[in-house]
Amino acid sequence: MKIGIVGLGLIGGSLAHDLKQKKHYLIGVSRQKITCQKALDKAIVDQADIDLEILQEAELIFICTPISLIIPILKTTISHLNPKTIITDVGSVKTPIVNSASKLWANFVGSHPMAGTAEQGIDAIQPNLFDNAPCVITPLKTTPQSAIKIVSDIWQSLGCNLITSTPEIHDRAVAWISHLPVMISANLINSCSQFEDLSVVELAQKIASSGFRDTSRVGGGNVELGLMMAKYNKEYLLSCLRHYQENLDNLIKEIEQENWQNLTDLLTQAQGDRQSFVN
Ligand code: NAP
Repeated sequence: MKIGIVGLGLIGGSLAHDLKQKKHYLIGVSRQKITCQKALDKAIVDQADIDLEILQEAELIFICTPISLIIPILKTTISHLNPKTIITDVGSVKTPIVNSASKLWANFVGSHPMAGTAEQGIDAIQPNLFDNAPCVITPLKTTPQSAIKIVSDIWQSLGCNLITSTPEIHDRAVAWISHLPVMISANLINSCSQFEDLSVVELAQKIASSGFRDTSRVGGGNVELGLMMAKYNKEYLLSCLRHYQENLDNLIKEIEQENWQNLTDLLTQAQGDRQSFVN
């Protein structure tokens, strides 16, 4: 299949790599010429350019740019395409993208592979990034079944565990398990590093180990991605943050009042519930 990828960064470049391994013909478009050249040097694409016009012959296109550019790029790209071309994206927020994109292009299917690292750009690409990762697709009632099948099949061919959802439920769920953790984690790092007693901060920095590495990983990653999560999933993220704040106030109260049994119950509940999110 002739597959186009716009945005040859961590996700787009990793996708190009894995699809190339499956013997597809890859056409890459990126913002910078140097990124296109690196993609050619790494042999993850057959053709690459900064001009969207080269996507003319693509049968399937993945838009893998920052969220704010997905719709503007779609608008420019479709003027070059045959209406049969299927377009998907990988944006971490789905409702605003799917609502706009499906009005512009009938054969649009929203996707979100739940895979990534704290790095960004073409130098950070990872082979097999999507293997065994959940991938959510968010078709609408009007989305053609043929387009849903092609997008589903291609993700599954990379080893993804496919899940279908509405864009709204997707956005509410990722607000809890992805966007809220980024904000909490960033706030944790900043709270620690801005503590007023420098001798404490300096020692904390020396002894921080696996626990801090785990809890700070998502907050110390791609700034633009975190900003886009907040901008494009604002209402659902705010709702999670407010809920979290209530629970935090409750936690503070339990410790202040030395309600150790309540704190034990709370920690026991968290210990058990964690298994239903990660195993
Ligand atoms: P990234 O590594 O920063 O890659 C984004 C790429 O987009 C850059 O390499 C950049 O190319 C390219 N780009 C920027 N403006 C462009 C333009 N006008 N035209 C063409 N290409 C352009 O970011 P990422 O982590 O791959 O994220 C990309 C998308 O994946 C986002 O929508 C994000 O929500 C989604 N996503 C991310 C993760 C994650 O954990 N990282 C997980 C799932 C989904 P140049 O190098 O040429 O400047």
